Amino acid sequence: MYEFMGKVALVTGAGSGIGRSTSVLFAQNGATVVVADIDEAGGPETARMIQQLGGTAEFFRTDVAQPKDCEALVNFAVQRFGRLDFAVNNAGIGGESNPTGSYAIENWQKVIQVNLSGAFYCMRYQIPAMLKNGGGAIVNMSSILGQVAFPNAPAYVAAKHGLVGLTRASAVEYASQGIRINVVGPAFIQTPMISSINDDPVLHDQLVSLHPIGRLGQLEEVAELALWLCSEKASFVTGAYYAVDGGYLAR
Ligand code: NAD
Repeated sequence: MYEFMGKVALVTGAGSGIGRSTSVLFAQNGATVVVADIDEAGGPETARMIQQLGGTAEFFRTDVAQPKDCEALVNFAVQRFGRLDFAVNNAGIGGESNPTGSYAIENWQKVIQVNLSGAFYCMRYQIPAMLKNGGGAIVNMSSILGQVAFPNAPAYVAAKHGLVGLTRASAVEYASQGIRINVVGPAFIQTPMISSINDDPVLHDQLVSLHPIGRLGQLEEVAELALWLCSEKASFVTGAYYAVDGGYLAR
């Protein structure tokens, strides 16, 4: 357990999967949670789950691809709860499955916009808010595909690599001002994003075989890493890429 009582955490893409699990774990550790998502069903559901557990959470509808939404989100967190301590920039989409030579231009733009620019827009407003309360911690949700290639996902791979670079760039800028910024790289995790894989046993087994640990990851295994990175236990950790990948990158 971490001592997050009195702390305010903001999680994007919190209406499903890893973002929901991270939001719930923050709340279970005492933090107040701002649940941000474009999904007006899943987002409020996450906030309800937290409230039912006795925690404090509010949903704020946000499209991270829109800078004005990201600004409004951070303003909401600060005006409603007085401060911003932690942010997990987790919203992401997979995009189409096609090689670079036939990838649709508009899908390239959309994936970059949500997965890379979205995290920048959020940080652009989160950082000034955190500086006002003397610091904070940011975790960006990249992927193993922020380190290595995967066929037929050029926009996703490029965006997730970019997110690692953005994390390093911003981490060195703010390290001496009390803001730690790190990036998490999950391998394949059982979430709605990859649910179609479960319908194809051959593909499922192929993916599992890429993970030396012999299975796909669980939501909580990613959430636990994000929380540790935000906690004081990680007080000397910044600008770092942390894989949570069952050994995928070690092969
Ligand atoms: P998910 O589809 O379950 O959840 C993603 C959430 O992001 C959804 O609630 C969705 O509504 C939201 N979202 C999408 N576009 C948005 C936008 N423009 N603005 C705000 N919210 C938006 O997926 P997940 O697997 O939980 O993925 C979470 C993050 O983890 C993503 O960044 C993903 O790339 C990354 N990731 C996932 C896996 C995996 O195997 N599931 C592996 C590595 C990295």
